[in-house]
Amino acid sequence: MKIIAATANKGKAAEIREIFGGLGFETETMTEAGIDSSPEENGKTFTENALIKARAAHEKAPDKYVIADDSGLCVDALGGAPGIYSARYAGEGASDPDKINKLLSALDGVTDRAAHFETAVAFITPSGEELTAHGEAAGYILTAPEGQNGFGYDPVFFCTELGKSFASASDAEKNAVSHRGRALRSLYEIVKSKIGEEE
Ligand code: IMP
Repeated sequence: MKIIAATANKGKAAEIREIFGGLGFETETMTEAGIDSSPEENGKTFTENALIKARAAHEKAPDKYVIADDSGLCVDALGGAPGIYSARYAGEGASDPDKINKLLSALDGVTDRAAHFETAVAFITPSGEELTAHGEAAGYILTAPEGQNGFGYDPVFFCTELGKSFASASDAEKNAVSHRGRALRSLYEIVKSKIGEEE
């Protein structure tokens, strides 16, 4: 069974490959599947955006399974921002340090720095059945970056469970508690029970 990871990010595709390999799925990226899809992500929630991406890939490759995800950082003191706008928080094409600087300025002098990362994943079968799952990682925003690993907001996100910033964690440590890891493992369980029902 082939599964298309509707993402241009190789790290995400590798994570999907590792988790869904257990179900006998062979994961391929959109490039490997020879499809090109970048729909406008105009949903109002992470789940809507994950479904938009999954549906666009499903339209291009209707005979295959597809998985898409959408993630972001939600900061309590900012009313959940940047949320679904995390990638574009400092403007289209802004660098990770630009986004981090904008976030640290927005939280200047703020003492309640609670935040969480969130991921929604969407899975579509060749028959068009849609399954979704969700994962979160809780923590708070540091006052200055810490650590060299990861990407995006990792240097300023202190993960409560790990007791360190995501950027100070190894890939394995981060994947074990991350929003994306949790969402994918939860989706895996849902897909597994579905496949079991159909057999
Ligand atoms: P995406 O939907 O997974 O591409 O995530 C959108 C944006 O959220 C990314 O461009 C990052 O800025 C941020 N983001 C999502 N997941 C993470 C993470 O695990 N660490 C740091 N930043 C993240």
